[in-house]
Amino acid sequence: MDREVHYRAVVEGASEGILTLDNQGQIVRINSAAEKMFGYIQGSATGMYFVRILTDDSVTRYLKSDGKLYPVSDMSLEARHKDGKTIPILLSVNTFKNENATYFSVIIQDVSERVMFEKRLAKLAYYDSLTGLPNRRLFHDRLSQAMDRALRNDKLVGILFLDLDHFKDINDTLGHLFGDRLLQETAKRLSDLLRKQDTVARLGGDEFTVILEEISNVSDAEDVAKKILHSIRQSFQLGERDIHVTSSIGITIYPHDDSDIERLIMNADGAMYQAKEHGRDRYELYTAKISTDAAARFSLEASFRKAVDTNDFLLQYQPEFVLHYQPEIDRYSGEVIGAEALIRWQHAELGLLAPDRFIPLAEETGLIIPLGEWVLRTACKQSVAWRAAGFPPFHLAVNVSALQLKNHDIVQQVARILEETGMEGRYLELELTESMVLDKSEGLLSILRGFKEMGITLSIDDFGTGHSSLANLQLLPIDRVKIDLSFIQNITKNEHDATIVAGIIDMAHKLGLKVVAEGVETEEQLMYLIEHHCDIMQGYHFSRPMAAVDFEALLINRVELSPTKHS
Ligand code: C2E
Ligand code: CA
Ligand code: CA
Repeated sequence: MDREVHYRAVVEGASEGILTLDNQGQIVRINSAAEKMFGYIQGSATGMYFVRILTDDSVTRYLKSDGKLYPVSDMSLEARHKDGKTIPILLSVNTFKNENATYFSVIIQDVSERVMFEKRLAKLAYYDSLTGLPNRRLFHDRLSQAMDRALRNDKLVGILFLDLDHFKDINDTLGHLFGDRLLQETAKRLSDLLRKQDTVARLGGDEFTVILEEISNVSDAEDVAKKILHSIRQSFQLGERDIHVTSSIGITIYPHDDSDIERLIMNADGAMYQAKEHGRDRYELYTAKISTDAAARFSLEASFRKAVDTNDFLLQYQPEFVLHYQPEIDRYSGEVIGAEALIRWQHAELGLLAPDRFIPLAEETGLIIPLGEWVLRTACKQSVAWRAAGFPPFHLAVNVSALQLKNHDIVQQVARILEETGMEGRYLELELTESMVLDKSEGLLSILRGFKEMGITLSIDDFGTGHSSLANLQLLPIDRVKIDLSFIQNITKNEHDATIVAGIIDMAHKLGLKVVAEGVETEEQLMYLIEHHCDIMQGYHFSRPMAAVDFEALLINRVELSPTKHS
């Protein structure tokens, strides 16, 4: 076969652009792949200077300073399509001689697809797929660049760590799809609010970070934080629903607070926790103290997880009394009619820890679920053991946390524990809080009804601290309210609180509810409560929470309490 014919067939059939240039760089031959690649109709590119195909930038990069073509292999450049768009290419150039003249043979590969693919990969590696925001890795890169720039320009960088308040609850109650949409909307609000040069990233979950570039004052970062808090506070319209959320923000400033990137991120995180602890829907600036708090919290969290594994908890029992008036002696005597189980953590180094130290942690980490189940089972076993030992039956109350109630099979779980332990439902009392019963959804109602069907007594704990009214409770199958101890302790100090207590007792009775006063510490408080017909009393005046054996001693000795009626 004719070599020339063969050559043409190969060149014309190739998918690469193949060109021949004369020693001036003018196109002598061009195959149809190259014509198509750059948008030239057949033959129209012949005679054109090759470099006109390249973008200006690529021309400068490719041509030597003397403007001459030279051999390269797979040089990555950009070409220009006739319609203006740029095409990433790989360029290979060789020289050859023919009849004493020098020519260049050029091979061009269109790598648009590969570049696009690489960009997609980079996007996957650097961006969060749910919100499209930079992810942790890109946040890291950007922060370190921002720190360099700030150092050169003698400016500050503000790092904000933001977390939505109670996001887990929203996710648990409304579902993950809803949660995802809320995160997307949050991302959008944050992006809309910031300047171009700032970065918003999502680190995962409901944690967002913001890099404020080249600020001059700490107050600049505070202003942004205030704006963000305000923006998140506006209701989110998600489908049919109006969702209200708040956020907590921690702020740290480079280089004021630290020069190490990891420690800066930890600082901001610690400050965010501080904002949560101080009541949420607020920001907090990092201080050195926060970092020791954070370290303590981390170590507490770690040891708490271990404690849950190894079960280092115990229950104490605090009795509840009904007072009987004995006319023959003109005195009251108390009868134990119930007890409340209160959890303690037996910490190897710190001793017996009160629940306030670890229940919030348990709720945050979700460990309250297994812990709550343990409390319930242990309390039921104890109650059954007391009955078996011949003690008269009485109610045993167990505190339930919001997260437990959201657990869909909580009713079955309680039923199972009753069954397992042989506990009768009518001796079990569950203490819920006002906020847990605020939404009167069908879900909640069916859970409460489920409990009632087992004969369980339901009380509202800490009553008066939430914002519900008794009328609010009317539609729910509730048996008791426990007036929060803060009111009881103010009875004798604050007329307003005394009136509230009397009012709650009165209203509750009208609604057919029994009233328990918790935190009764003095005889004066007790007398006021008796006068206003409070049904059940609990508090240090009678007894502190105590170990099961001590509680037995109390039942055996039947401690007599005897305030005189007219004291
Ligand atoms: P609470 O349910 O309101 O429990 C009453 C708290 O007041 C108990 O604190 C009790 O020891 C204390 N107290 C009782 N009488 C008096 C008094 O006369 N004066 C004063 N100043 N305090 C009194 P404790 O045991 O530290 O429990 C604190 C909170 O931890 C409880 O408040 C409850 O909300 C939570 N908690 C306790 N055990 C559990 C549990 O097993 N599960 C859950 N989810 N929460 C629990
Ligand atoms: Ca309680
Ligand atoms: Ca309480």
